[in-house]
Amino acid sequence: MELFDVYPLYPIEPVKALGSKLWDKNGTEYLDLYGGHAVISIGHSHPTYVERVTTQIQKIGFYSNAVENSLQKELALKMGQISGYYDYSLFLCSTGAEANENALKLASFHTGRKKIIAVENAFHGRTSGAVAATHNPKIIAPFNADHEVAFVPMNDLEALELAFSDEVAGFIVEGIQGVAGLYTPSNQFLKKAKSLCEAHGAIFILDEVQSGSGRTGKFFAHQHANIRPDIVTLAKGMGNGFPVACVFISPKIEPWHGMLGTTFGGNHLACAAALAVLEVISKEELMKNAKDLGEYAMQQLSEIEQVKEVRGKGLMIGAEFDFPVAELRKKLLFEHKIFTGSAANKNTLRLLPSLSVTKEELDQFFKALKKELNK
Ligand code: PLP
Repeated sequence: MELFDVYPLYPIEPVKALGSKLWDKNGTEYLDLYGGHAVISIGHSHPTYVERVTTQIQKIGFYSNAVENSLQKELALKMGQISGYYDYSLFLCSTGAEANENALKLASFHTGRKKIIAVENAFHGRTSGAVAATHNPKIIAPFNADHEVAFVPMNDLEALELAFSDEVAGFIVEGIQGVAGLYTPSNQFLKKAKSLCEAHGAIFILDEVQSGSGRTGKFFAHQHANIRPDIVTLAKGMGNGFPVACVFISPKIEPWHGMLGTTFGGNHLACAAALAVLEVISKEELMKNAKDLGEYAMQQLSEIEQVKEVRGKGLMIGAEFDFPVAELRKKLLFEHKIFTGSAANKNTLRLLPSLSVTKEELDQFFKALKKELNK
């Protein structure tokens, strides 16, 4: 059997990784400033992570959600502590799209309504419910047509107000739009969304799948705006490579048995991975590192002549050049052995390094970047 050919591949096969470094099968070393779309939060193969996951698999890796699992309770407690969402409850699942599906479902269950408001160019995943709130016609199948989704331009307060009515189940927005090219909802936009949701009895959903887990210098990107959504979704960096995701749910939403469910969500191995990530983020003060080195990297980028704009926060950075960056990224990868990312906006180079990246590693990137730009 062949693989279903949906991913364009670089001819590189990493076989070993540690921290922000990768090695291919020939022993060539690479600097990873992308972490597979913000997945690598605490660094590849962190010793605490390796220890917790391997110890757990030797005891028990999985059993169903029909039995007690104290690792899930420990994870809920620690998630509450690190985020400040002590009074919310946690639903565990496996991917970002699944977390958003459940968030949209909860909004609909709670309000009895089906209309969702989302933001233009948003990306919330590739499953049916989440894809309906994803602004990318290429991946919307005909069966998604039944979902009612209204898109409003990012940070357009008037359009947001006009889109709201008492028929709206929920409003969903990314903490920072990742795939689109690092566009951030303004504090005003988020505050307006919060008050409109309250006025119309709708549920306010923050998709922190990519921007969460401390990447922006706070546990969630929306915490810079000092607002509290009703639902927050988290995935990618939560498991540092182990597929685990979750939904933070406000106490105003009442659960009932059977309301949500998933086979793999919150299995023992997933919990061990997620607990290791939280432990390392706290012990190594990685949110502070994300803030400090994010500021450093953004400052360095803003001093480069060809960079038109630097967007993002912490270690979720987009540098918009005055030309498409595909060739530049290839040069960085094949000549300088540095992984970077792209975005839907073709002039934007995306940096999503591990939160433990060092100044020396960033300087290695800036040296290579300047060399290429000055050729
Ligand atoms: N939400 C956001 C903001 C994302 O960036 C992504 C993936 O890129 C998703 C949801 C979907 O996550 P997953 O691919 O784990 O389903």
